[in-house]
Amino acid sequence: MEINIVRFDMALGHQKPENIIHRENGCPFCHPETLTDIIAREEEFIFLRNKYNVLDDADQFVLVEAATCDIDTPDYPPGHLARLLRFSLRQWRLLENSGKYTAVIFFKNHGHLSGGTMRHPHMQIVGFRHINPRLLLDRDSFQGIPVVERDGVLLNAATHPRVGFGEFNIIAPPDKIETFASLLQTTVGFIRDRFPKSQNSYNLFFYHLDEKLAVKALPRFPTSPLLIGYDIRLFPSNFEKSIAMLKKRCLSL
Ligand SMILES: [Zn+2]
Repeated sequence: MEINIVRFDMALGHQKPENIIHRENGCPFCHPETLTDIIAREEEFIFLRNKYNVLDDADQFVLVEAATCDIDTPDYPPGHLARLLRFSLRQWRLLENSGKYTAVIFFKNHGHLSGGTMRHPHMQIVGFRHINPRLLLDRDSFQGIPVVERDGVLLNAATHPRVGFGEFNIIAPPDKIETFASLLQTTVGFIRDRFPKSQNSYNLFFYHLDEKLAVKALPRFPTSPLLIGYDIRLFPSNFEKSIAMLKKRCLSL
């Protein structure tokens, strides 16, 4: 099996600040005047180089989503997420078109079970110089039970999840960012309410799926040993109920 392996700088990794569990640790993103290596700014959004570039042969970037720590995706005022996504997608595209990388990934960690270390709402973009881009996208994992279809944007519940225990896909034509953002905001709010064991930890992973924009939204828990050891995906027995609840929430918008 072909795989991508990237070296991780342990010494630098140990210096990385953490303020999800240790809330007393300060937040650099609440003090943008102290930030360096800023590449672009628009409204509250800041795109900058990650100070802790722990991945070898890669350039890591951070997208600050809001001015304060006390807010996250489900709480954003109307329009905020769509504007943020437009800004972010532009930065992603610029890096992809720069010719410097074989692959550029765009994702979000939120909460301590997601791999995140900073509480401040932010996303990340990483440009890799040598990884194989073909191995980054698992087409089957976008198959699912339709939850809602609106303006050509599809929200489904993955039947071939990458991880299991609840995984949602949103797939949209590139000109339908408003609808995409609105369904994403609802889905993240749903994940926060419906999966309390994740302790408000989730990931968003963005992809280009043919000509469309796709995102996977999933709650995070300690990873199942059956997945790690044997690649067995677990499907929750109450998933149909979850799907019906999410559908109701989307239709009440
Ligand atoms: Zn902050």
